[in-house]
Amino acid sequence: MRPLNQNEFDTPGLNAGFDLISLIHTFCLIVRCHVIVGVLVCAVYVQYVVADDLQLQVHLVEMLAKHCGLQKASQWSLRYNIPKNRLPPGVWETQQSLPPDLQQICLNDITHEEWVPPQSHCQRFYQVPLTKDKVHFVDTAETLHRCRSILLKEGVVVGVDMEWQPTFGRVAAQKVALIQLAVLDQVFLLDLCAGGFCEQPDLVGFIRTLFSERNILKLGYSMTGDLKCLTATWPELSEEPLKTEGLLDLLKVHQKIQCGRINQVQDGPREVLVCENSAEKGLSLLVQQVLGKPLDKTEQMSNWERRPLRISQIRYAVADAYCLLDVYSTLSSNPASFGLPADLRSITSGQSKTSIEKKQKVKRDKKTAQAIGQEECQGAQRVSLPHSDTVKGLLCGESPSEGSPPLTPQQLRVVCDNMLQGLGRYLRCLGVDVVMLENTDDHRVAAKLAQAEGRVILTCGQPFQTLRSQVGEGRCLSLDCSEKARDQAVRVLKHFNVQPTPSDIFSRCQACNSDQYVAIPRADMVAMLKEKGFLQDHNNTDHMFEKSCQQEELWLDDTLTPSGTPEPPRYATQCRWASLSGLDRDTMTFPGGSAIQLHTVPPALLQRIPLFYVCTRCGKVFWEGSHFGRVLSLFQEVLLIADDDSISAARPLTLAQNK
Ligand SMILES: [Zn+2]
Repeated sequence: MRPLNQNEFDTPGLNAGFDLISLIHTFCLIVRCHVIVGVLVCAVYVQYVVADDLQLQVHLVEMLAKHCGLQKASQWSLRYNIPKNRLPPGVWETQQSLPPDLQQICLNDITHEEWVPPQSHCQRFYQVPLTKDKVHFVDTAETLHRCRSILLKEGVVVGVDMEWQPTFGRVAAQKVALIQLAVLDQVFLLDLCAGGFCEQPDLVGFIRTLFSERNILKLGYSMTGDLKCLTATWPELSEEPLKTEGLLDLLKVHQKIQCGRINQVQDGPREVLVCENSAEKGLSLLVQQVLGKPLDKTEQMSNWERRPLRISQIRYAVADAYCLLDVYSTLSSNPASFGLPADLRSITSGQSKTSIEKKQKVKRDKKTAQAIGQEECQGAQRVSLPHSDTVKGLLCGESPSEGSPPLTPQQLRVVCDNMLQGLGRYLRCLGVDVVMLENTDDHRVAAKLAQAEGRVILTCGQPFQTLRSQVGEGRCLSLDCSEKARDQAVRVLKHFNVQPTPSDIFSRCQACNSDQYVAIPRADMVAMLKEKGFLQDHNNTDHMFEKSCQQEELWLDDTLTPSGTPEPPRYATQCRWASLSGLDRDTMTFPGGSAIQLHTVPPALLQRIPLFYVCTRCGKVFWEGSHFGRVLSLFQEVLLIADDDSISAARPLTLAQNK
């Protein structure tokens, strides 16, 4: 214990808790009794203590509504500009009908919200290193002119953010209420709700110039939404769309950092996998990762169209734009330590290029998928898919990471508890890195593997609590065992925001989780089978051979004549390819010691399978078949397939599989 010092008494909100609630309660009683002096003294103190803590403000208004009536409650709610959805019933309506002279509580001159937030806030959240006089409201032609003269200069770096009214589920883009433009030593708040300012003729021109000037670097985070709302604000922007140059979306940079961190995990040291603290998402997570503390997002959903804005709203708006400068500056000073290229500005163009490539690749996958579908091959199977019981279930334990950047299946590394082997097989089948516990393994093995290899545990039932306490928040997920394995898999993918593409399907060996195959053309496979006595000369009639031929109604005459060049794989699998030269041709074993499982290749298939894929770790032999289509249609809802492709890609395959 240490003695309290004077400063701690002076810090509003520090002792938030029971005493404060009883203070508010006392205040409400005094207000009700109309003890004028008491009201004033108490009001000053209540305001001082409540400060900009929205939770306490809401509580005060609730108490006032209960004890002192709707009018008092609505006056105070106006004073604090509390979001509509946080108001007690009837308060919003009363606000609307209050005569102007009652809309203000005459205490403005006695107290005011402090620009510098409480110490506890500073300890927890990122703070902007600017005093209040460096924040400028821009709401007239004059102030706009001043803002222009500072921002529109070659080489300036501007943090850009915008606020608009929360949509609560509506889809249409909202009009922007506030545009925040941050430069190194000051922040401009363009107040589009200030009377007539939005119609200022120079304003749209300024926005156009700012966004199109290549030599002014604009930093944003997930800017697509901002740009949509800008277009919704000014109709002329739909007629003549905004040209954008010199934009750096830090979301792209964030995605790159996340990928790097995940790869680091695979190389050994235990580090963040998806996000170390699932409470932080998006920009706040990036700020935490780069600058050490997250953003305070309390005001994110507040009423951005009401004026005047609360100090805490202004603080939030300023921080949201200014943090982009801080993040950019820290990343640029040492890009390598974040796994980034020296020129961060190259990431935007690089990313868009890869996304184009990805789209083209998806298109290719679709074509090859269709080709496989049209082949109408039956019987050939690369995996046997698990069957599981019905009954829907829940994913409990952690909140989903929708806001975090999407992952590829290869980036998700899990260890599946032994009750979830069906789930594990499905995830593997989509390319997720899955280690499965054996039936005899103790649950604690999962925790050991998770810690040693940086994996997330998937479990269900009793072991969840124990396992989570061993590996920590966000690294253990509980699933409902009664749910279908397929549905469990969809849950897991959505939870971690994993976006598999068709080329991830079967990119991992279903038997051993390896993602390395060797491709063996038919001719070589035939030669190997013959050499090891699994295939007789085709003039001889081997019983099994004949039987399978009858079954398949095929004749292998042409097949056994070695063809010239092997056909390439028809769909590009996201796996690693090994060279056949690593194989010991005498023993048919790979360097790791596993032999090719030649005995599993049905001779009858040889005629129509041009290429076999052999897992270099366990020797299991695979080939293309209708199961690809089955998986494609089973997981359509989570597969990343180009917009117009989803139906056309999946349908022929589904049909083929039914024949
Ligand atoms: Zn294998």
